[in-house]
Amino acid sequence: MSATATRTHRRTARRGLATALAAAGAVVAAAVPASATPTAEDVSPEQELTDAIVVVDQYWADNYEWYFGEEYVAPLVYTGSEGVQGMYTSGVDSYLCAGEEALTPSNALHCGEPVGEDWVAVSDDLLYAGTDQIGDAFVYMVVAHEWAHGIQQRQPGWTAPWTELQADCLAGATLAEATEQGLLTWDEGDEEELAAGLEAVADETGWTDTTSHGSAQERIDFFQHGVDDGVEGCLYDGVQP
Ligand SMILES: [Zn+2]
Repeated sequence: MSATATRTHRRTARRGLATALAAAGAVVAAAVPASATPTAEDVSPEQELTDAIVVVDQYWADNYEWYFGEEYVAPLVYTGSEGVQGMYTSGVDSYLCAGEEALTPSNALHCGEPVGEDWVAVSDDLLYAGTDQIGDAFVYMVVAHEWAHGIQQRQPGWTAPWTELQADCLAGATLAEATEQGLLTWDEGDEEELAAGLEAVADETGWTDTTSHGSAQERIDFFQHGVDDGVEGCLYDGVQP
């Protein structure tokens, strides 16, 4: 899966805002990585993460207002000691979410601080294991899923109790629509990578409550609903487990 380079200049126009946010003193930086690279054979995991953030953020910047009738406010992106946008180093970096250590090993998260101060992060070990064992599409899936939690926070009226499955659905919608809109191209094998990735992060049991991530099959089904039906099919009046 790779970011399409043609639209990166559009992000530059918003750099003023990003700089203002970063200058506000947060360790968390705004979601404006330097640039997405065009298709390349040997893209590093760190660059994949940067590209995925650019694509997912651009998708919501382009589409959020159309869906929800409000201006899009991007979540922030945590940048850890390695200086990679969106990545923290497990066991080294430390940052609080709601007063508790948020940067746990082998994890990705959206921290629901007030909108505009909320942030997304992926651990280095999850990033490296995911790209090594599954493939680059895993990174896009993880970023799109965590970003979806940010969208849920912004739209509580549309947020279903099956929060995690809804985030998978929104992730599918994000990546499919971003592709239709020319932000992303899929490589051969990406669909299998996405299924394997969802399986790797699934629960043993099916969806039961708001903390459940759902079984592998449920996660794959919800992701696919998003691919097939788009964002609207994922909202609270959409598909149910
Ligand atoms: Zn989640």
